[in-house]
Amino acid sequence: MKTNLPIIENIKAIRTRIEKACIQSKRDVSDVQLLLATKTVSPKKIKIALTNNEYLIGENKIQEVKEKYAALKPIPHEKHFIGHLQSNKIKEILKYGVTCIQSLDRLSLAEKLQKRLLYEDKHIDVFIQINTSAEESKFGVSPDHTIDLIKKTASFDRIHIKGLMTIGLFSDDKEKVRACFQLLKQLQQKIISENIPNVSMKEISMGMSGDLEIAIEEGATIIRVGTAIFGERAYPDSYYWNENIDNNVIQ
Ligand SMILES: *Cc1c(COP(=O)(O)O)cnc(C)c1O
Repeated sequence: MKTNLPIIENIKAIRTRIEKACIQSKRDVSDVQLLLATKTVSPKKIKIALTNNEYLIGENKIQEVKEKYAALKPIPHEKHFIGHLQSNKIKEILKYGVTCIQSLDRLSLAEKLQKRLLYEDKHIDVFIQINTSAEESKFGVSPDHTIDLIKKTASFDRIHIKGLMTIGLFSDDKEKVRACFQLLKQLQQKIISENIPNVSMKEISMGMSGDLEIAIEEGATIIRVGTAIFGERAYPDSYYWNENIDNNVIQ
């Protein structure tokens, strides 16, 4: 999906795709939020988007959150964390204005997060990240263990579960991608029916540049788009999803 169109034109094109998908699935366009996936994107480029009516960004690495913090601080926006979170980075994530961790996927992380939040007298929103494609290389709790993780995490009073997140299968087979999104929606319904205190299931974060239409048809409330707005990244995604690498890759 190579594109040389300027960022503003790209955003317009994405907004049009969102509108069409909403019409197609009889959904209200205001029910779908666009999150800009800004990994490797410079503050200068992010600013272009934020000063053109965009508001929500998502980062994958603490290192990048930190490096861009000062430059983006004066511009109104909200920042989610969408990458794999190592527990030794919890302290850092609470320093730089992240309002929601979309990638909570294990109890050990929730325990450490709660501890730190208590210590700092803070609260944070989270989504539970689910591995809906059953690929070993992807992070996320398995669908089978989701309810258990949510029940245990819900007992931590500083952590507020607001929804679910998934990275669908990377495949040209649309129906396989759709199956991942349907699984997330089904899980949401199942969790709602469990009536777990301190748990909101309002948000469903799924869909990226290539599959946002399918995600919207299947109930996404947040889609996360990077490439289609900022252009191709210089590194494969496996690079950002490898927890052992924290090099500076901002372009
Ligand atoms: C990079 C990334 C995206 C955006 O992917 P694009 O294909 O560039 O739109 C969405 N979600 C996560 C978790 C990502 O790391």
